[in-house]
Amino acid sequence: MNLKPFAADPQKSFGRQFKEAPSTLRNDFQRDRDRIIHSGAFRRLEYKTQVFVNHEGDMFRTRLTHSLEVAQIARGISRTLGLHEDLAEAVSLAHDLGHTPFGHAGQTALNQCMKEYGGFEHNLQSLRIVDVLENDYVDFKGLNLTFETREGILKHCSNKNARKLGEVGERFIQKTQPSLEAQLVNFADEIAYNHHDIDDGFRSGLLTFDQLQAVPFFKEIALKVKSDSPSINDRQCMRATIRRMMNIFVMDLCHESQLRIDKKNVNTIDDVRNEGTIIALSTDLTKKQQSLKQFLREALYLHPRVQAMTDNAHEVINALFKKLMQKPALINIDEKHSQHDLAQLVSDYIAGMTDRFALQTFKKLCQD
Ligand code: MG
Repeated sequence: MNLKPFAADPQKSFGRQFKEAPSTLRNDFQRDRDRIIHSGAFRRLEYKTQVFVNHEGDMFRTRLTHSLEVAQIARGISRTLGLHEDLAEAVSLAHDLGHTPFGHAGQTALNQCMKEYGGFEHNLQSLRIVDVLENDYVDFKGLNLTFETREGILKHCSNKNARKLGEVGERFIQKTQPSLEAQLVNFADEIAYNHHDIDDGFRSGLLTFDQLQAVPFFKEIALKVKSDSPSINDRQCMRATIRRMMNIFVMDLCHESQLRIDKKNVNTIDDVRNEGTIIALSTDLTKKQQSLKQFLREALYLHPRVQAMTDNAHEVINALFKKLMQKPALINIDEKHSQHDLAQLVSDYIAGMTDRFALQTFKKLCQD
């Protein structure tokens, strides 16, 4: 790795909450990545939805394939900017661990159920999984990851929650920035899902090639693809257009971020933490990204078939939450807990469910 002086450095890590002897073979960020990959929460991503319910078709992205795509994009950006690929990879692979079943619809439903008990937020839940809920180690709770991976996972946080989180919440109160590796994963995430949602939308038949002409950037690139290869069919043209668009976004992000690094004279990781946001798209590509997102919201996320799934998710999550609060013994939770603690345990249990397990449990417990 050709690291720049402002890259995160595992040798200078703020360390793990529980002190451990260093590994002889791996640096601390690689060790974090490996712990994430071997966790149960990571394996469950395979059966969790991004936009389409997991069992609707085998061709669509799941949270697992999404996380792999984010890691691949994030590593490429890291390499180009001279940042630490292993940290970017670890953060990417963990960034969606806290998602509920049934995508965003599941999160909205669980957040409503948890309203009186502090709410539910998938990003905080990702941190909670790696800090507390994974329980494979005898010496500590969670995965005992380095501070740098944990701060990368926590991409946003209210001041109220930040105060409860100790050192990893500090930056939200102090208004400082995380490492560049953490910053770039957020962009890799957006680049990945905007483009793969177009692809999945097209494969599912919910989006057509004609409809996508309403996005000027898509239209412009698709025209170029067609003029380069006049015999190309719609499906190949769609794939080629998506590839080119992603490439343009990634190149723009690297270029714009490098300009900011130079302009702000960033030389150390302390400079990174104290300067404003450094990883960014240019104004032009930011606008293009917004119009793409706007299109996806109207044409895909609010599509009646996707909405039907959303309604179903609300029903399933609400019924499960109600049932398990009434009868926690069904999942071996002691009834003597306070209502608040009980709600937290039930919420953790439901959030950890895969789409399929949530539906099975709903049928078993709520439809008899
Ligand atoms: Mg994501």
